[in-house]
Amino acid sequence: MASNRDDLSPSSGSTCTGGNGSSFRYPMCDCSVQASLKTTYTEGNFGRRFFACVNHKYGRSCNFFNWYDPPMCSYGRRVLRHLREKHERANMKATSSVATTEPNIASKHASLVLEVAEIRHDMESMKSKHQEELRCEMESMKSKHQQERHYYRKALVLSWAFFSVCIILGFLGGSPSNEKPALT
Ligand SMILES: [Zn+2]
Repeated sequence: MASNRDDLSPSSGSTCTGGNGSSFRYPMCDCSVQASLKTTYTEGNFGRRFFACVNHKYGRSCNFFNWYDPPMCSYGRRVLRHLREKHERANMKATSSVATTEPNIASKHASLVLEVAEIRHDMESMKSKHQEELRCEMESMKSKHQQERHYYRKALVLSWAFFSVCIILGFLGGSPSNEKPALT
């Protein structure tokens, strides 16, 4: 088979196994195996398909090579180059926009984290303040209750004492009055 390499580098091509509906016969290479259909993306033959030895990827190629597509006209090459440059520019733009957007997102995220931390801190301090107030209130209520209890106990003791004194006085004062007055 005739070899026509130009500036082609098969390693940059991707495998295309003719699954596009077109019927063609795969040529046999010098290793007596069916050659594979690949596509090159080099400057001069961008998108042009060719047959190559399958054993190329195993490092023991018989150097079989044959173009499948006819050479592209100069206009087609120009259009393709233009499209390729456009694509590269779009890629670069996308990459740079990602590079400028990422720090923005990072700083926004950092400020949000800070905000959340502040809110959490405020909540914590409010909670502890509220707990302190509640504790104070409970303490004062407890002491008030204790004072009241003390007062009631005192009152109870005093009333009991008063009652007992009354009974004793009644007993002492009542018993002589039952006796007959002594006649003189
Ligand atoms: Zn071969």
